[in-house]
Amino acid sequence: MKNSQKLIILTGPSGVGKGTVVKEILSKDKNIWLSISATTRQPREGEKEGENYFFLNHERFKEMIDQNLFLEWAQFAGNYYGTPLSSVDEKIKKGFTVLLEIEVEGAKQIKEKFPECVSIFLLPPNKEELERRIRNRGTEKEEAIKKRLLRANYEISASNEFDFVLTNHNVDETANRVIKLIQT
Ligand code: 5GP
Repeated sequence: MKNSQKLIILTGPSGVGKGTVVKEILSKDKNIWLSISATTRQPREGEKEGENYFFLNHERFKEMIDQNLFLEWAQFAGNYYGTPLSSVDEKIKKGFTVLLEIEVEGAKQIKEKFPECVSIFLLPPNKEELERRIRNRGTEKEEAIKKRLLRANYEISASNEFDFVLTNHNVDETANRVIKLIQT
């Protein structure tokens, strides 16, 4: 892929507020395009096909892996998540900055494939706050919450592998900092 310095990874543990920060970034900078991922997770209430995710069954997801249709993919808390290759390439060619909002394993794969990309890791103010955010979201059952919290410890320990580490105290401020990093 040409121009992979236009590829931006936003990663960090579940519950850190990546999704909210992304929404703010997209509303502030119209030249940034968010890649829509595929997942085998069930849609949450209000989530729309093709808008939040492409919701696939395991069989279709595995087919896409076999056909090399993902830029990266990973398993997270019992489900598969992946970045479809075709649209990312197309948007970069059109001159957009492409934002990937993904978990740590996928982020590492992208960094390895495209060392010139920009990678940003979001940290929570502290672990208690992270747990509070995951629980308050109210979208996961206790078992899934536990999986996400366990995984968060591992993910946070990998934060130093990324280009920039930002603590997400405030959505507006974090979005502005990310935009500044993208534009420099
Ligand atoms: P959620 O189930 O909360 O929507 O997402 C769970 C985790 O998967 C989050 O950390 C989210 O950033 C990550 N994720 C979403 N899409 C992708 C993707 O395409 N690839 C990878 N590796 N992770 C993803």
